[in-house]
Amino acid sequence: MKLLLHMCCGPCSCFPVKRLREEGIEPVGWFYNPNIHPYKEWEHRLETAKEFAGKVNLEIRTEETYRLRDFLRRALAAEETAGGRCRACYEWRLGEAARYAAENGFDAFTSTLFYSIYQQHEVMKAVAERFAAEAGISFYYEDFRPGWQEGIDLSLAMGLYRQPYCGCIFSEEERYSKAIRKARKKAAKAAKAARLAAKEAESA
Ligand code: SF4
Repeated sequence: MKLLLHMCCGPCSCFPVKRLREEGIEPVGWFYNPNIHPYKEWEHRLETAKEFAGKVNLEIRTEETYRLRDFLRRALAAEETAGGRCRACYEWRLGEAARYAAENGFDAFTSTLFYSIYQQHEVMKAVAERFAAEAGISFYYEDFRPGWQEGIDLSLAMGLYRQPYCGCIFSEEERYSKAIRKARKKAAKAAKAARLAAKEAESA
């Protein structure tokens, strides 16, 4: 099977590439991530994806246009919609992966996003299935998450740069803003208290 593997970054590619090869599939990597900001971070992840591909002898193709403004337009427009900016981000990347695979003679596509324990796995799966049907190509589904720790170990052994946040400028803010972290802790505490109160009311 000729499989296109959308690569979100080098470290997240370690386990999926190993796993696919164990299954007898030699994927072709494709770096397409207009969601990564700022520019230096995008460039660093792009170079790390290439470094990884070189180290494991993987064919890699890359889309090297930095798209901050396009991404912001889409993300802000999606803020109030169901799924918000992350769904829009999945739709953009997985939709393009489906289209690229269909137009370039692949039998199927998948993504290293299905390795991440931090992404909305089921949402991405539904998005990938929808775009696969639209593009007339197969979506090769595999849940790579069981290899989470193995993938981290592999990336560390290879000395790959490991990014500290998901990708977009919003996720960078969420990672480092003390105010956001404090508000999240407060919301989690309030949700926990509400759950406990509901339980107590049920058992009374
Ligand atoms: S947090 Fe991650 S998945 Fe969500 S929009 Fe930002 S880069 Fe995309």
